Amino acid sequence: MTLQNPPGQPHFAYRGNELFCEEIRLSDLVRAHGTPLFVYSKSAMLAALAAYQRGFAGRNVQICYAMKANPALGVIQVFAEAGCGFDIVSGGDMDRVLAAGGRAEKIIFSGVGKTRAEMRRALRAGIGCFNVESEAELEVLSEVALSMGVAAPVSIRVNPNVDPKTHPYISTGLKDSKFGVAHERVLPTYQRAVKLAGVRVVGIDCHIGSQITQEGPYLDAVDRMLDLVEAIEAAGIPLHHIDFGGGLGIDYHGETPPDAGLLWQKLLARLDARGFGQRHLMIEPGRSLVGNAGVCLSEVLYLKPGEQKNFCIIDAAMNDLPRPAMYQAFHQIVPLNRRPGAPDTYDVVGPICESGDWIGHDRSLAVQPGDLLAVLSAGAYCMSMASNYNSRGRAAEILVDGAQAYVIRQRETIADQMQGESLVGQMPTTLFI
Ligand SMILES: *Cc1c(COP(=O)(O)O)cnc(C)c1O
Repeated sequence: MTLQNPPGQPHFAYRGNELFCEEIRLSDLVRAHGTPLFVYSKSAMLAALAAYQRGFAGRNVQICYAMKANPALGVIQVFAEAGCGFDIVSGGDMDRVLAAGGRAEKIIFSGVGKTRAEMRRALRAGIGCFNVESEAELEVLSEVALSMGVAAPVSIRVNPNVDPKTHPYISTGLKDSKFGVAHERVLPTYQRAVKLAGVRVVGIDCHIGSQITQEGPYLDAVDRMLDLVEAIEAAGIPLHHIDFGGGLGIDYHGETPPDAGLLWQKLLARLDARGFGQRHLMIEPGRSLVGNAGVCLSEVLYLKPGEQKNFCIIDAAMNDLPRPAMYQAFHQIVPLNRRPGAPDTYDVVGPICESGDWIGHDRSLAVQPGDLLAVLSAGAYCMSMASNYNSRGRAAEILVDGAQAYVIRQRETIADQMQGESLVGQMPTTLFI
C-alpha cells in the first residue's frame, strides 16, 4: 500500500512511500536544513498564477500579488519575474518588493492606517496607486503629496456591504468592517477627491474578504462596484482602472472554491454585458497564489498517550503556524515516509506554553518519535504571521524549482533574535526637551 497523494496539491506527491516536492525528496531537505522547515514549490505558484492569466486572456489586466500572504523575497521575486504587480499594506512591504526586483509603478498600497511617513516614501518611490480607505486618509494623503509638489494617484476602496461567507476575522466587506468607504459615501468621496490638488483619481477598488469559496459574493460585489463606476463617471469623474481585490479561497480540507480561470471568465462576462470589458482591470490575489504551494515540515518529538486524548508533540508550533490558533483553521497533516502499523488518533500540538498551540485535532496517524510530518497548505499566512513567541527562532524557507532547491531564508538564530536588545544601563535614552 502506498499513501494517497495529498488531494489538490499535484506539486507535492508520494513516490513509493516518500513525499516529494517537484523533483526533491522532502526528507533530504530536512536532513540538510532541519525542522521546522517551510518548503515552497515554484511550479505550484506559477500554476496558480496561470489559472488567473487564463481567465483574463486577451484582457488588459494587472495581477497584483497580495504579498502579505507570503512576503519572502524569493517568493516576491517569482511573481515579479512572472510580470505581476504587488498589493502592499505597509512601507516595509514596499521595501521588500523593491529589494526583490519588483517595479514601483506596479505597486498598489492598501490598508486603513497608512502613516504620513509611509505615504511620503511611497510617493518618492513612485508607486502606481494608493487604495484609500477613508475620507480622512484622502485629506492627509493630499496634504503630504502637495508638500512634496506632486499629486498622489488614488483609488477609493469601496466597502460594498457584501457577506463573503467566510471566517469573521477575514471578512472585510461588511458594513461594520473597518475597511473601505461605505457604499453611500463613495460618490461624495470621489467628488471631494477631484477638488484636492494633491491627489489624482485613477481608479476604484474593493476587497471583500479572504478564503472565499463561493462565487456569489464576488458576483454581488462586482455588480455593486459597477453600479458605483457608472454613478461616478456620470458625475464627470473618469476612472482609469477597476480593481476587484483578492480573497479567492483554496482547498485546505475538501473546500471547493471556484477555479480562478473559470470565475474570472464568468465575472468578465458580466463586465462585458455592462460595457466595462475593455477597461484596465486589476486583481489582488494572495492566498490562492501561494497557499497550496507550501508545506511546513516538522519532526515528531514525543507521543503522550492519555485517558481522554493522545498527544503527538511536534517541533513546529503556533509561532510557525498561527492559523489554527487564530482562526480554528484546518491544515492536513501527512507523514513524509510511510510507516507500517495501525494508526492512532492524536491531537497534534506544538511545544509552546498555550493550550491554543495546536496544529490539528483528532488526526489519524501512524507515527513514532523522530518521524517527519508535513503540514500542508502552509504557503500563505503562516511564515508571514510567524513570531518569536517562547524565544523560538523563525523557521528556514526553501524554494524548490524542479530538481533544484534554494534556501530563501535561513533559520533565525538566537543571536538574530537578541540583536537590537540591550541590558538595563547599557543604553540610556537621550530626551530632547
Ligand atoms: C489581504 C488582502 C488581499 C489578499 O487576500 P487573499 O485572501 O490572500 O487573496 C487583497 N487585497 C487586500 C486589500 C488585502 O488586504
